[in-house]
Amino acid sequence: MEPFLAVSGDPVAVPGNPSGSHAIARRALRALDEAREQVAGVLGCRPGEVVFTSGGTEADNHAVSGGLPPRPGTPVCSAVEHHAVLEPTLALGGESVPVDRLGRVHPAALAEVLRRVGDSGGIVSVVSVMAANNELGILNDLEVLEAAVREHAPQAVFHTDAVQAAPWLDLADTASRADLVSVSAHKLGGPKGTGALVVRNGVGLRPLIAGGAQERGRRGGTHDMAGIAGFTAALVASSDSRTERAASTARLRDRLANAVTGIEGVSETVGPEVAESLGLPADRSHLLPGHLHLMVDGVVGEELLFDLESRGVCASAASSCASGATDGSHVVAAIGLGDSGAAPLRLSLGADTTREGVDIATGALRASVAHLRGVTRAVR
Ligand code: PLP
Repeated sequence: MEPFLAVSGDPVAVPGNPSGSHAIARRALRALDEAREQVAGVLGCRPGEVVFTSGGTEADNHAVSGGLPPRPGTPVCSAVEHHAVLEPTLALGGESVPVDRLGRVHPAALAEVLRRVGDSGGIVSVVSVMAANNELGILNDLEVLEAAVREHAPQAVFHTDAVQAAPWLDLADTASRADLVSVSAHKLGGPKGTGALVVRNGVGLRPLIAGGAQERGRRGGTHDMAGIAGFTAALVASSDSRTERAASTARLRDRLANAVTGIEGVSETVGPEVAESLGLPADRSHLLPGHLHLMVDGVVGEELLFDLESRGVCASAASSCASGATDGSHVVAAIGLGDSGAAPLRLSLGADTTREGVDIATGALRASVAHLRGVTRAVR
């Protein structure tokens, strides 16, 4: 990113605006073209299909709306989508598809909603189902969902929010069925506020940010070259380390899961037992490697987060974009646990997580739960 952040006069600086036509601009354009090629290589698309954005939220809003003015018709999304998909879907009068106890979308449930829109005389404009859920870590089967879309709403565009999946899955394969794919740099270790939307050739999209002809007329505005450079570097590095990192993180997540579920009243929300009850293998292969979602009895969610933080563990109750600890999580509600009385707790692991870190987190959770339950009993 440094050459693009450096001030003019610095010998390594690339100060040009890639939309310009002179020599300095052409240098920046070469860098932009190279970045686009690298991103396309990892995401399994053509360079011209990459639209650089300000991150996942913009990519999702753009995919759902189709730009300005919005695509005619009814948008449909799953009930557990990130707010970046849910809000524009609801604002455009869309429908949501219920999920199962694990948070997965079933093709039959999707087909039912698509048929209902058709039966009421409407047309479905877009179907948006996330590759992996940000709170639970649960994976969707995009292949069977795409088949349901093509069968029941052949005119609809199929979008997947792959923001959470990108660090862990090969999107060139997993997201290959989607017409539109959203990715965000900061989930990959890159800078915040940058990302991309893959727009397959032939898929119509008006600009959401209208202005200049940048990004083949699909997104106006001077390019954030430092952000694009950082996003590209992070995406490539993440792709290179993916297989090994996913395996070692999953081992640490399993260690953490096995240890914390030994604490009384702490259970995995979408763990092996729930998977087995739905006919899946009794393991965690239905989850992203870095996710562990728990339900904790006998404590107040917000107090648990504060207490954990005081012990050095930074966790969350829902998406970072929602104050889940106080408002409740729409994802937890959608899997039928909204009224369970237990506190949702989302622990995330990444490339820097160590065995020691996992053991410290386990000890902190044990101490927090004991402390908060003791306080509750004393108050009573
Ligand atoms: N979609 C999902 C699944 C996410 O987890 C996030 C961010 O956490 C977003 C979209 C929004 O991406 P950004 O923060 O880059 O706008």
